[in-house]
Amino acid sequence: MNRFIQYNPVKWIFGKGSIGRLQAEMSRFGKNILLVYGGGSIKRNGLYDEVIESLQAIHTNVYELSGVEPNPRLDTVHKGVEICKKENIDFILAVGGGSVIDSAKAIAAGAKYEGNVWEVISRGKVIKEALPLGTILTLAATGSEMNAGLVITNLATSQKIDWHSQYVFPQFSICDPSYSVTVPPEQTVLGIIDIMCHILENYFHNGEHTELQDSFSEITLKTLIETAPRLLAEPDNYDDRAKVMYAGTIALNGTLQSGYRGDWTAHIIEHALSGLYDIPHAGGLAILFPVWMKHAIDSHPARFAQLAVRVFGVDGTGKTEKEVGYEGIEALRNFWMTLGAPARLADYGIDSSRLEEIAEHSMMRGEFGRFYRMDRERILAILRDSF
Ligand code: NAP
Ligand code: FE
Repeated sequence: MNRFIQYNPVKWIFGKGSIGRLQAEMSRFGKNILLVYGGGSIKRNGLYDEVIESLQAIHTNVYELSGVEPNPRLDTVHKGVEICKKENIDFILAVGGGSVIDSAKAIAAGAKYEGNVWEVISRGKVIKEALPLGTILTLAATGSEMNAGLVITNLATSQKIDWHSQYVFPQFSICDPSYSVTVPPEQTVLGIIDIMCHILENYFHNGEHTELQDSFSEITLKTLIETAPRLLAEPDNYDDRAKVMYAGTIALNGTLQSGYRGDWTAHIIEHALSGLYDIPHAGGLAILFPVWMKHAIDSHPARFAQLAVRVFGVDGTGKTEKEVGYEGIEALRNFWMTLGAPARLADYGIDSSRLEEIAEHSMMRGEFGRFYRMDRERILAILRDSF
């Protein structure tokens, strides 16, 4: 097993009724609160009223920033930073999915930064402080509730960029799967695909493989594969929502990647794609990930064969590792398609006119791909095969 240092200070409050902890958690912070949420799902399902009632009971001054977009925008982050500076905000409470949480993290960093927070995000700057934040998760997908990452889109430059800092780890995250029963089917599927991709990005790593760590990733993938169709038939099944929410958090909070760093090519190209075309993150991944796998298989066929046999039940008898691996890739792609996910860039009306730009944005921070090294030509080849 590889050496590692893992640090994760997030208090993870999981399960039915865990919103009951909100007042106690908030009592550690000041009274001026910025509540950040999205386009209104929390008003429709009653969570907004519950949160406001809780905050009023502890006499906080609540300021609001609503309307955070999927693929959250820098302009909205700026609005939040302005409120924080003007109203002397002590604490940011994000209620929503990954977009809301990522925006809250960017606002937390921006509130303590003198200049434009885009300088921090786009240049990967190291900061020394941020406002404290907490989250109430309503959608299982990104793992942002228990990690130090964020992804923000700058419409002016069509760039979507990720950034990490230990100062934006949430202080606590309330993860009650019951709040996710109202997530519509299409969004539920996208969430599951994002979670599977986070696991797969890490599964394809160059570190030492161990049976325990491989099995942990494989069983999590199998659980998601088994749960997804059931959840579409029965969206308010609490136990299944709970499995998916738990999987979403462990997929990207350090648990499934201790000691190694995964490839992350599909995510990097997808961010460039979403920045230019504003498509859903996991929709882009559903298209790109299987194509990336087909390009990477020759460099490590045994790894792909292991995934195919152990996760997709491919029978390897009498076949080469590459043949087995290939069947696994097809099984993954078909599984996502049966859930209604897109399979080609053309499904989003994307044509080949901006491939060079997508490649250029992907390479913004230089070459990447720890498992299968990327350069401009390889990115373009993957994109061409995604139509
Ligand atoms: P999202 O963009 O936060 O939300 C998608 C949609 O789901 C929104 O329209 C939202 O509506 C709705 N929604 C959320 N909860 C709901 C509920 N309980 N009932 C009904 N509708 C609900 O989706 P996401 O997949 O969680 O986040 C995607 C973003 O996170 C992307 O920008 C992606 O790049 C980023 N990301 C971040 C990380 C990270 O580690 N930080 C990792 C992967 C991806 P409302 O707006 O009305 O609430
Ligand atoms: Fe993701």
